[in-house]
Amino acid sequence: MSGLLLTGIGHLTTHDGDPITDAVVAIDETTITYAGSESDSPAQEGRELVDCEGRAVIPGFVDAHTHLVFAGDRSDEFARRLSGESYADIAASGGGILSTVSATRAASEEQLFDLGAARVWNMIRSGTTTLEIKSGYGLDLTTELRLLRVARRIGEELPVTVRTTFLGAHSVPVEFRSDRDGYIDLVTDEMIPAAAALADYCDVFVEQGAFSVEEARRILEAAKVKGLQGRVHAEQLSHGGGAALAAELGAASADHLDHATEEDASALADAGVTTVLVPGASYSLRSSQAPGPMLWDAGCIVALATDCNPGTSYLESMGLVISLAVVEMGLSANQALWAATRGGALSLGLPDRGLLARGQMADLAIIDAPTPTHIPYRPATNLAWATIQGGEWAHRS
Ligand SMILES: [Zn+2]
Repeated sequence: MSGLLLTGIGHLTTHDGDPITDAVVAIDETTITYAGSESDSPAQEGRELVDCEGRAVIPGFVDAHTHLVFAGDRSDEFARRLSGESYADIAASGGGILSTVSATRAASEEQLFDLGAARVWNMIRSGTTTLEIKSGYGLDLTTELRLLRVARRIGEELPVTVRTTFLGAHSVPVEFRSDRDGYIDLVTDEMIPAAAALADYCDVFVEQGAFSVEEARRILEAAKVKGLQGRVHAEQLSHGGGAALAAELGAASADHLDHATEEDASALADAGVTTVLVPGASYSLRSSQAPGPMLWDAGCIVALATDCNPGTSYLESMGLVISLAVVEMGLSANQALWAATRGGALSLGLPDRGLLARGQMADLAIIDAPTPTHIPYRPATNLAWATIQGGEWAHRS
């Protein structure tokens, strides 16, 4: 039997009660069999003994919103935005999502795997154990399926759990600019049936210049017929009704929510729709942060994510996301850590993650600091001393 016995844990965040000092975690095969105080610790038996020397241990990060399989980059647009052009102006001039679509269509499946895997390794080395990956830079049947296959393969070959989301409704591609309905028909009639075997969810970008609430409803209803639950990019750049639609349809999540209202918050909380906040995007776009504390107080399940993408949030570190959520958005350090772990797990329908207790999946990070408050406090330092995924070392410094 393979196993680990982590001793000398200075501060253990379980999310199953108060933090424990002088703690021990026992892992057998893929599962946690003990998480508690040293005084009741099980014996070492056949397990590998690891002395954490006073370090903190937390659940592994669950990054519930990424677009990390893409080719090319948009550093030129970043520079244009810094000199005053808006995201909408850049998109209207042929930049934005569509410039990444051109680069991604031109890349091979092997190249896309190598590019995506390199980004995921950065995440694993930063303490991430589960993540979501969206398609959406293909916008044609062949490339969308290629992106989903690459995402699935990352989950099979790297020490990380991957949930996949079909995002054919990320933008209307150039070849359909004069035939929006034709593109939506392609999404509902051809792409969704083919993507259903490779995806766990279907997402739609509801925004001026992307898709309307009515178009999104058509797409999400078609997806539901094929067994794909919804996720919605909602209320990011303006208030457009995406959150209310997510609540109406019982989507798994409503994401971004920078412009969400209290009415949206109570509808999402009542419908059990998780709210995935991505402070890196607001930071990169220099726009106001989502009302995280308001959503939390309204009873929403709040998750945090990197939104890793080449246009508006090219970051891989959940530690930085937590710091932005605390410093810029106003969540407490404990709320942000919960949202980056347990909240993400609930958003992705994985209730055996994000919580360190007997019977849970052994996904955790050993933090090179005495408490997890050091994560937001020292945002430019990767504090993940080790990452354990499914009971195995995924990364160890
Ligand atoms: Zn996104």
